[in-house]
Formats: sequence, structure tokens, C-alpha cells
Amino acid sequence: MAKSPVHPRRRRFIKLTATGLVVAPLATALLRGNASAADLIKESDPAAVKLKYKADATKAPERTNPAELCDNCLLYESKDSAYGTCSVLENKLVAAKGWCTAWSG
Ligand code: SF4
Repeated sequence: MAKSPVHPRRRRFIKLTATGLVVAPLATALLRGNASAADLIKESDPAAVKLKYKADATKAPERTNPAELCDNCLLYESKDSAYGTCSVLENKLVAAKGWCTAWSG
């Protein structure tokens, strides 16, 4: 029986590397999906309560200018059409159509 030209340790290294290249992107995608859901701020979050944050700006009685929304606030960084991160709310996700008293134009 002919001996394999690839050393067993080398063969094992190649297998582990190939497995890692396949698994790592999948794990990253899964973690990213879970992190997004977990990072969506709740109106009941103490930081959100302090700034009177509402996911639906029309439900914020303190808002006097109907043009003010999270998606046109300087502190908002869009992630998609519905949500983005807010630097004053611990970079958690806020609703694009939300609002809080820290709105900055
Ligand atoms: Fe929305 Fe701006 Fe308030 Fe953040 S600071 S919650 S982006 S209005």
C-alpha cells in the first residue's frame, strides 16, 4: 500500500482550516442577526425613558416639530430603512420614525 504524500498532521491542519473557513462566516452571520434583535432599544430602557424616546414619533407629546424624526437626526446612523443606531442611546438600534428630546438637526 502506497503511503500518502501528505503528513497526517498537515492533513489535519488543512481539514481544520477548511472547516474554519466555512463555519466562521456562518457563525458571524448568526451572531449579527441575534445582536441586532437584542440591541433594539425599548421605550422602557432607563436611557430611553430619560430622553422620552418613542419608537413612533407621533406618540411623543413633547415633539413640537413634526419634521423631527430619528432618521434625520445628526445622532442617527442608518442601518436599513427601518432602524439605525443612536449614539446617545448607547449605540442601540432606534426606529427610523422614532424621536426623543435629544433630537439634533
Ligand atoms: Fe432618535 Fe436622535 Fe433621539 Fe437618537 S438622539 S433617539 S436618533 S431623535
